[in-house]
Amino acid sequence: MALVRDVPDFPKPGIVFKDITPLLADPAGLAEVIRALAEPYLDQGVTKVVGMEARGFLLAAPVALALGAGVVPVRKPGKLPREVHALAYDLEYGSATLEVHQDAFTPDDRVLLLDDVLATGGTAAATRSLLDRTGTHVVGLAVLLELSFLNGRSLLPGLDVHAVLTV
Ligand code: AMP
Repeated sequence: MALVRDVPDFPKPGIVFKDITPLLADPAGLAEVIRALAEPYLDQGVTKVVGMEARGFLLAAPVALALGAGVVPVRKPGKLPREVHALAYDLEYGSATLEVHQDAFTPDDRVLLLDDVLATGGTAAATRSLLDRTGTHVVGLAVLLELSFLNGRSLLPGLDVHAVLTV
């Protein structure tokens, strides 16, 4: 936990940002976290790991390797070059859009969602809704760190959520 640093008032006043870059830079810490993220899903037949932009990408690829799965990016608008499914969702102030390639999944895929931090759950819930449009089976959501006081799980009913660390 010492490798995840609290940065007060970033990116705006009142937010305590959980900075995982020291953990990513630590070989033993990174290996342990990838092992712990993947471990509950080793026998779940996961075929694709979906990384949520942007820190999710850094964790999704090694977790996919650990599971013998592929990796699929869910991105902000305008980044993916081919036909996409898009979903707009509300943020605390304003809205955001997520996109995924229309041909990213096959009908028999089993997908694990992956992000660094589960905060309000809005991003994960929107990603889940986006994947619902593709008809893809979502096995669960794995995160490095859950901010349990924000109760993000309430936006993810029925979804298996695995957090390596919880505060
Ligand atoms: P959420 O509120 O669960 O939709 O979180 C949105 C995104 O912002 C997640 O992908 C997290 O990576 C990031 N995030 C939210 N809160 C924090 C925080 N306190 N520290 C670091 N990242 C955060």
